[in-house]
Amino acid sequence: MKTYRIATIPGDGIGKEVVPAGRQLLEALAASSTGLQFEFEDFRWGGDWFRAHGEMMPADGLEALRGKDAILFGSAGDPHIPDHVTLWGLRLKICQGFDQYANVRPTRILPGIDGPLKRCGPNDLDWVIVRENSEGEYAGVGGRVHQGHPNEAATDVSMMTRSGVERIMRFAFALAESRPRRQLTVVTKSNAQRHAMVMWDEIAAQVAREFPDVKWDKELVDAATARMVNRPATLDTIVATNLHADILSDLAAALAGSLGIAPTANIDPERRYPSMFEPIHGSAFDIMGKGLANPIGTFWSVVMLLEHLGEYEAAARVMAAVEAATADKSLHTRDLGGNATTAQVTRAVCGFVAASA
Ligand code: ATP
Ligand code: MG
Repeated sequence: MKTYRIATIPGDGIGKEVVPAGRQLLEALAASSTGLQFEFEDFRWGGDWFRAHGEMMPADGLEALRGKDAILFGSAGDPHIPDHVTLWGLRLKICQGFDQYANVRPTRILPGIDGPLKRCGPNDLDWVIVRENSEGEYAGVGGRVHQGHPNEAATDVSMMTRSGVERIMRFAFALAESRPRRQLTVVTKSNAQRHAMVMWDEIAAQVAREFPDVKWDKELVDAATARMVNRPATLDTIVATNLHADILSDLAAALAGSLGIAPTANIDPERRYPSMFEPIHGSAFDIMGKGLANPIGTFWSVVMLLEHLGEYEAAARVMAAVEAATADKSLHTRDLGGNATTAQVTRAVCGFVAASA
């Protein structure tokens, strides 16, 4: 019997609904004789914690997470707290504190889901977007002077380091090499951003030489958006900077049918720290507390969590259960055009997992 220590951080909004659903799924998996056990510890950080303590998580919060095998995260965002405070105070604090420099976002059209691409067959869209998760446009470098005066000025510097770019390129090429098509598209904007992005391109070409079996090409980020819509089958693994991949992966999620089904892994590939798994969507206060949240994005994140732990068989079973649920239109939540509730979908997916034991 193997026991994994999992931290759950529901955060804000519908995070408080989908993370407990994800935990229920792991409990259903453990109950169905896989030889796996999970020891959960729940951390109630986020907007409510901020109102009580003036910060999104305690100063020693990272210490509490350090010994865990993985983190299941919901969302940080609260209509009454500025977005940059919630983001930097919780999610990015963990990503940066644990050097989770690779953000991985798989996108596929799951069975039963109609994406907006009418000409797209189910196998034409099968991507993994690798997002640089530690620097670039979100490095936090910049400043603001003369606030409130006519000569006020502000900068956000996109800072890239050679070591930072090398490590994400290596991760992306290795991931591309592990997938059947062995194909990587490096997204860039080096025509306009002529310092950091030029270095990004140079390092891509350099790392490519370590992976002779990977076919790779380069695409400007603007052209990449059009290619995702017009020629989705020409893409497989994609690597992009923090900002570019942030945008491309929301587009990818929408093309796959809904923001509510897309998963994310924030990975420390060197395994010095726990990695963190979360749905790509945010706190979605507009649907909070109504049972409308689609838990599939969290369930798919649970699949990625299990894969990261090396539990491939369990991961495949959970993914099959997720696909069995999406294939049944009576289990679609409102974002997918149905009227199933979070609880109904959760019960069904847990049931499929139990039945596959
Ligand atoms: P945040 O500020 O934390 O990013 P948000 O209010 O911008 O949150 P998102 O979660 O980014 O909201 O999503 C945008 C919209 O998509 C939501 O307002 C919601 O209607 C819908 N949505 C997002 N996630 C889900 C989900 N899991 N199930 C159903 N609908 C969802
Ligand atoms: Mg949002």
